[in-house]
Amino acid sequence: MTPEDVLKTGDALVVVDVQNDFCPDGTLPVPTGDEVVAVMNRWIAAAAERDVPVYASRDWHPRDHLSFDTEGGPWPVHCVQDTAGAAFHPELALGEGAIVVSKGTRFDKDQYSAFDDTGFAEELRRKGVTRIVVGGLAEDVCVHATAKDARAHGFDVVVIRDGTRAISEEGRRKTEADLEDAGVAFV
Ligand SMILES: [Zn+2]
Repeated sequence: MTPEDVLKTGDALVVVDVQNDFCPDGTLPVPTGDEVVAVMNRWIAAAAERDVPVYASRDWHPRDHLSFDTEGGPWPVHCVQDTAGAAFHPELALGEGAIVVSKGTRFDKDQYSAFDDTGFAEELRRKGVTRIVVGGLAEDVCVHATAKDARAHGFDVVVIRDGTRAISEEGRRKTEADLEDAGVAFV
């Protein structure tokens, strides 16, 4: 299905963490992660035509964040606030209307989901959104967590299969099975 077939009033397009550090030259690369850029750009353009709001989440860590392996966490240092690695991919065409959702900013815990203590669910309800259409990086980490949380908050969820990439093939399979169990649709 094309973006034009899918997007409708009441939707929001959510572009998860399409940042340099998650692309092949970054510090926490998702294999072929940069391939989502062209796909998501088509969805962003279609959303603009339909007056569907566009949100872009970003991992936005303070220096020495507890999720970094230098601090005993699971991940290499990535997406440190105001660094080039934390910037959105240079070819991601978010446009002027896109709203940024920053996460991973807390000192006391990591936030994989764009809904985790960000107020995002309230923002979507305020805009009359009932369904999110989501793509970005990585499918088996932050896209997974965001889609699952959206269901828990009562939103319908569609994941754009060619607009996301997983860190591992096993992670992709487990994620898609888990999301399907949670009532998430894939296009
Ligand atoms: Zn992170």
